Amino acid sequence: MPDYDLLVVGSANADLVIGVERRPAAGETVLGSDLVVHPGGKGANQAVAAARLGARTALLARVGDDAYGRLLLESQRAAGVDTAGVLVGGAPTGVALITVDPSGDNSIVVSPGANARLSPEDVRAAAALLASARVVSLQLEIPLDTVATVAEVVRTARGGADTGEGRGEGTGDGTGEGGPRVVLNPSPPAPLPAEVLAVCDPLVVNEHEARFLLGDDPAGREEAPEAWAAALLARGPRSVVVTLGAAGALVADRDRTALVPSLPVKAVDTTGAGDAFTGALAWRLGLGEDLETAVRFAVRVGAAAVTRDGAQESFPTAEEVAAL
Ligand code: ATP
Repeated sequence: MPDYDLLVVGSANADLVIGVERRPAAGETVLGSDLVVHPGGKGANQAVAAARLGARTALLARVGDDAYGRLLLESQRAAGVDTAGVLVGGAPTGVALITVDPSGDNSIVVSPGANARLSPEDVRAAAALLASARVVSLQLEIPLDTVATVAEVVRTARGGADTGEGRGEGTGDGTGEGGPRVVLNPSPPAPLPAEVLAVCDPLVVNEHEARFLLGDDPAGREEAPEAWAAALLARGPRSVVVTLGAAGALVADRDRTALVPSLPVKAVDTTGAGDAFTGALAWRLGLGEDLETAVRFAVRVGAAAVTRDGAQESFPTAEEVAAL
């Protein structure tokens, strides 16, 4: 039996936040509030979201040999994430420098740092960790080559063949037999190679990511998520989930399309809602749920996350989701 329900391969960042009356112009200095440091990065967020719900979760990431790296490792462990796969050193920990003005508008500078050094070699060296998970969840805050190598290692674990036809033995069905199932949220969006798209089950996109990936495709100019999902499915993923904020999420595979409504909640802060949703979805797929059932759970997790401030701080426990 696989050791982990979920392995997240992705980024870990320290988010350094300062409130300002107004953002500085070029050459100007302004005074701001006390610094607040939050653990972040899409990979780290998804791992914490899943672990807090009770998932057996591991993280494959890279942080610097510095204070922020130690802080990120500590926040993962506190949530129950296995951090044995987190590599340390090679560059400073990734940071996001965030200034927020009183209207809530922010300016962000990201230094990917160690995230940019998570390499294809690191992934190959972690092949046993990959094989020990039912589901592998990916985002694009690490190099695309590294993401593509995860897809390659997974295909190899399935015996090389990935025709996209059918499911079952050797096709990554979430049982851990024949290689893990792969969930990919292409954020920040970038063009995806066909070999990567072919292993996604599902590809999880919001509206912005869907339209980016569709590029010149006329479907991307429509206002219908069903049209985006159909056009994205034609690119090779076995299934597509389009997150729709307060409207919930659309689920599509070759057999059917279904809208899963969200729960009506008072949204306070939507930061990290997508990561909470995807971490929860990937975990439930790892438990063997079908895609629509897993999405029904994930929209509840996303809804709970928007009722509180922050990203990782806002992610709910299983009890909180049940009480929603
Ligand atoms: P973000 O970039 O803010 O992390 P996202 O754009 O990737 O988010 P969204 O579609 O905004 O993703 O949200 C993900 C999921 O969270 C939605 O599918 C939905 O289930 C839930 N959600 C988000 N906003 C709300 C809301 N206002 N009310 C209820 N549920 C919400």
